[in-house]
Amino acid sequence: MDRTQIVSLWRKAQSGSYALGSFSPRNTFLIDAIVSAAENVHSPVMVQISSNEMRWFDIKPGEFAEAFFKRASACSVPVVLHLDHTYDFDTVKAAIDAGFESVMIDGSKLPFDENAALTREVCEYAHARGRAVEGELGNIGGADKLETGGDERLYTVPEQAREFVRITGVDALAVSVGTAHGVYPTADPKIDFDRLNSIRSIIPQTPLVLHGGSGLPQQTVRRAIKLCGAGGIAKLNIATDLELIFQRVLGIGRIPNSEIQKLDPALLEAAKAEVRSFVEGRMREYLMSAGKA
Ligand SMILES: [Zn+2]
Repeated sequence: MDRTQIVSLWRKAQSGSYALGSFSPRNTFLIDAIVSAAENVHSPVMVQISSNEMRWFDIKPGEFAEAFFKRASACSVPVVLHLDHTYDFDTVKAAIDAGFESVMIDGSKLPFDENAALTREVCEYAHARGRAVEGELGNIGGADKLETGGDERLYTVPEQAREFVRITGVDALAVSVGTAHGVYPTADPKIDFDRLNSIRSIIPQTPLVLHGGSGLPQQTVRRAIKLCGAGGIAKLNIATDLELIFQRVLGIGRIPNSEIQKLDPALLEAAKAEVRSFVEGRMREYLMSAGKA
């Protein structure tokens, strides 16, 4: 899919009060579980991998893209290949060369001006090639260093969000309003809905992205998607949950992508089925994207 089609998927979600799930399989084997779930419940979906995940699991952008397109070419619903948290221009370029359709440049740990300059540079490069760009303002942080490499949270300031979007031309914006990456230490993480509402009304045309979707209660996700007035968040990232299910069924820890084919095929199929059913459930009950393809 090209940039125009992807942005229109996000806008449709925003106005239709549902969100696209952007799921991290953390290996090439589970790409099928995510795409099959989307087909089964007739939902649009994004499949993502971050630069840290590629390093941790020893996956090259080209390898991930090849596995994705092999499955996606025979797919009956809209599916998007997305590069999650990436901090440098070179990795973005490598992903775009490999065929990634949407990329996230995360300059959120930089001072505002540097973040804006880097994001703008990436937008110019990606837009010229028909790819969509997600930026981040305010730092989401988390307990799990896998996705972002940091644990410090810094909330997004609404007025700065307007300035950031104006300067950079980003297609979507990840905001920091209380969610975190990894496993939450509490069952009911506090989300700053007033802040989310302010951001939403100050940049009504920009699709908003919420990260840290693993372990977020259903009512919290639904409220963030619906908000009052304009639609709320249009994309929700879910990563950790999938890996936890995969590891539990197989009784393993974190292993590189190339080790997966050595595991018991029957157990692998069982793990895939469980991840698929989890993703279907999230689409139906949290994202409300089932039937929207
Ligand atoms: Zn994230």
